Amino acid sequence: MEKIKVEEVSKIISAKIKNFDQDVQLEETGTVLTVGDGIARIYGLERVMAGELIEFQNGTKGVVLNLEEDNVGVAVLGSTKDIKEGESVKRTKEINAVPVGETLVGRVVDALGNPVDGQGPLGQTELGTVEVKAPGIIARKSVDEPLQTGLKSVDSMVPIGRGQRELIIGDRQTGKTAIAVDTILNQKGKDVICVYVAIGQKASTVAQVVGRLKKEGAMDYTIVVTATALDPAPMQFLAPYSGCRMAEFFRDSGRHVVIFYDDLSKQAAAYRELSLLLRRPPGREAYPGDVFYLHSRLLERACKLNDSLGGGSITAFPIIETQAGDISAYIPTNVISITDGQIFLESDLFYSGVRPAINAGLSVSRVGGSAQVPAMKKIAGSLRLDLAQYRELAAFAQFGSDLDASTQKALNRGALLTELLKQGQYSPQEVGVQVAVIYAGTKGYLDDYKVDDIRSWENGFVNHLRANHSDVIEKIGNRAKLDAVEADLKNAIESYNQGFKANG
Ligand code: ATP
Ligand code: MG
Repeated sequence: MEKIKVEEVSKIISAKIKNFDQDVQLEETGTVLTVGDGIARIYGLERVMAGELIEFQNGTKGVVLNLEEDNVGVAVLGSTKDIKEGESVKRTKEINAVPVGETLVGRVVDALGNPVDGQGPLGQTELGTVEVKAPGIIARKSVDEPLQTGLKSVDSMVPIGRGQRELIIGDRQTGKTAIAVDTILNQKGKDVICVYVAIGQKASTVAQVVGRLKKEGAMDYTIVVTATALDPAPMQFLAPYSGCRMAEFFRDSGRHVVIFYDDLSKQAAAYRELSLLLRRPPGREAYPGDVFYLHSRLLERACKLNDSLGGGSITAFPIIETQAGDISAYIPTNVISITDGQIFLESDLFYSGVRPAINAGLSVSRVGGSAQVPAMKKIAGSLRLDLAQYRELAAFAQFGSDLDASTQKALNRGALLTELLKQGQYSPQEVGVQVAVIYAGTKGYLDDYKVDDIRSWENGFVNHLRANHSDVIEKIGNRAKLDAVEADLKNAIESYNQGFKANG
């Protein structure tokens, strides 16, 4: 008898335990109330936390964004097609993570880190939480190594240092992406990992960029993260953080990374869409109040780490598209204030043939100067001055016809330098070459040439330098002072000019 009693008690207890489990389960699962436009509202899930991942029946994941009294708002990470109202949802108690690791290099992945390049699964990876806190002040060091873009006008006038955040801003079709692509091409052989995050672009545009990177052998050190215009808004919102997390893997192992967010205007638009669907109160230009935080928490993660943490760096180039050159709109001013400077591209310049279409007056780099190689730093000052003078005089010269000799000379010099700073796509120059070319311009070696001759002069001169003066190019790249190479530069320019004049 007693034996049976014991068994009964244990039965009751085990049943209780089972039911207890179910009680808990109720709080850990929920039901889909509504779904659509990348958003789901869930009933239940009482203990779920903001930012937590939840799982739908078909395995699709979602991120909890809104915690309300009787439901939670979720951004669905994937298609909402197969998610039905009334189906159950469970908590995962995890926060969103993407695969990170060496094997991502050379791959094209989506915002969740799934490969989309048809080259099979990723090799060995680990999981990295997508949103992490940016390193604090103590962990950082000031920027002191250059990140060469290979573009004369950028490396001379808006120099970038490793760990810096530099905004590329301009209207549509002004060459924003072109600067990113050229900068990636220029990292070849420099042991810098590149991450290109494409947000809200057409799939064909992204395919073109990837095709070019492949053709130039740049995919060997590049990761492409893509959330196209056709992907749901949550993916476009998430892609920059995913890309950043992949970059951090390399930064934290002491490597150097450069990351491009092309572009953050589209990310902000995707976030606005999500927020409005979640019925968050709209603020300026209908963006939610925390849209500044969207970009600041992302860009804060780019930095140069101190030596005890390995000295790695992430240099970030966010890209922003403006409407009719309006850099004072809401999102542009936000990102301008977060970054360490901007490269401002202008349609007028672009169409008048000045490419890259950099507005030298409005473009700045607040920290990169301290990372510039000394020879470049020395000559960049006079270049900026000559160009500023040119802009000022050119505005006046439109009205008058009688110009004194010195004004005429300054105008002439400015026109030559403007021509000299033009650069075609996919032809980055090493800093030594840039210094030699700009030196020739600012020291008056080209003053006797016509503007139309400058292109062919430069092409020939660059070939001449690379063939006969590779030692000078190298010395400048290795931070030689201008004094130490000046005689060689003069010699190189003079010997080339003799031949050029004879031909021309
Ligand atoms: P979107 O707003 O569509 O993203 P974007 O600002 O990124 O445009 P790009 O796509 O980089 O602009 O360039 C626009 C066009 O200008 C392209 O056809 C590109 O090949 C051309 N282009 C860009 N830079 C140069 C250059 N330095 N020299 C010649 N052509 C260029
Ligand atoms: Mg573009």
